[in-house]
Amino acid sequence: MFEFTFHIPTSIIVGRSCLVKNSLRLREFGKKCLIITGQTSSKLNGSLEDSILALENENIKYVIFDKIEETPTLSTVEKAYRENKEKGIDFILAVGGGSAIDAAKAISILFKHDISKEELLSRKNLKGIPIVAVPTTAGTGSEANPYSILAMPEEGVNKNIGQQVFPVLAFLDARYTLNMTYELTVCTAVDAFSHLAEGYLNTRANLFTDTLAEKGLRLFGECIEPLKNMDCNIDMREKLLLASTIGGMVISHTGTSLPHGMGYPLTYEKNIPHGVANGILYPGYLKVFKKCDKLKRMLSLINVSSVEELSSILQKILPMKPLTLTQEEIRRYVNGLLSNEKKLKNHPEKVSRDDLIKIYKTILTP
Ligand code: NAP
Ligand code: FE
Repeated sequence: MFEFTFHIPTSIIVGRSCLVKNSLRLREFGKKCLIITGQTSSKLNGSLEDSILALENENIKYVIFDKIEETPTLSTVEKAYRENKEKGIDFILAVGGGSAIDAAKAISILFKHDISKEELLSRKNLKGIPIVAVPTTAGTGSEANPYSILAMPEEGVNKNIGQQVFPVLAFLDARYTLNMTYELTVCTAVDAFSHLAEGYLNTRANLFTDTLAEKGLRLFGECIEPLKNMDCNIDMREKLLLASTIGGMVISHTGTSLPHGMGYPLTYEKNIPHGVANGILYPGYLKVFKKCDKLKRMLSLINVSSVEELSSILQKILPMKPLTLTQEEIRRYVNGLLSNEKKLKNHPEKVSRDDLIKIYKTILTP
């Protein structure tokens, strides 16, 4: 007997110019909007211009906070709130990659509860003011999941704040992703793939998440040849954006597993972009599976015949820099993962310390 719950509270509107065409939808969230975005990219890819046009069409006043950095810090989140808390903000428009959308989730909670950053992390089940998300990368799926990953320099880690804030509405317009560099396109695409794969090969997977993950994996599979050929046309970008949002929906139910857990220290300590950190761990991670039925199906969905073939594709497309890990670093990272019960539980088989060491040792080298 099947037994599961499935719920995605985010309305999703897809299509070219969908934000401006559907600006009316913004009215229900209030009369004053805080736009949360990064420093540069949204000014160049049309997403900020369209956001302003959509708000002006509906006579919604707005202020802009454009200082979100890559993997935003708690201090930046707090600054965005402090600078704007007296301005009568009703809702947030998060315009950018996962960093802007993740930051917006934490900021929305501060607006709702007026609490300190410590309380943001320690209190449970906090809600936020409404967030409308306009993703401009195709990777994190943050527009359709409740996670908010922030950098915590005091603790020396990037981590999920542990609250559950979904955007209420997301506009998916792949035109905004057109001017991503090839490198950013690949890093974010591999992040999307890893959400789909880790959600599919997951203890908490269910019929609905698998149905979504299978479609998302197929879409990603259709992008492999264009990615290998560096042919990043709008059709491929639309597929990647859909795959990314689907990945977000999947992991909102399943969570991620070993590669995400093992990749975070590589990003934080070795400055390896999130998607690359996941990608270089994949060959080792997939080799650790003892029972292979679902793994084989996952590979066939992306049209790849073996783990070795996937490994050579990742090696070809990922921007690789020399990486060395000392025995001591591997030991520390493995201990970190062994204390991360959630990630271990999501992996459908028992893994040993040796398995994890083996995965770190198989990291692709350039
Ligand atoms: P990002 O950190 O949001 O952006 C990376 C860089 O890409 C920034 O320099 C940004 O510039 C630029 N950029 C964004 N859109 C662009 C475009 N259309 N064209 C050109 N450049 C563009 O990248 P991301 O990979 O989307 O997000 C990564 C963050 O999300 C990390 O903090 C990661 O931990 C987190 N994450 C969250 C989830 C989740 O489930 N919520 C899942 C995975 C990862 P500007 O700063 O100028 O905008
Ligand atoms: Fe991710």
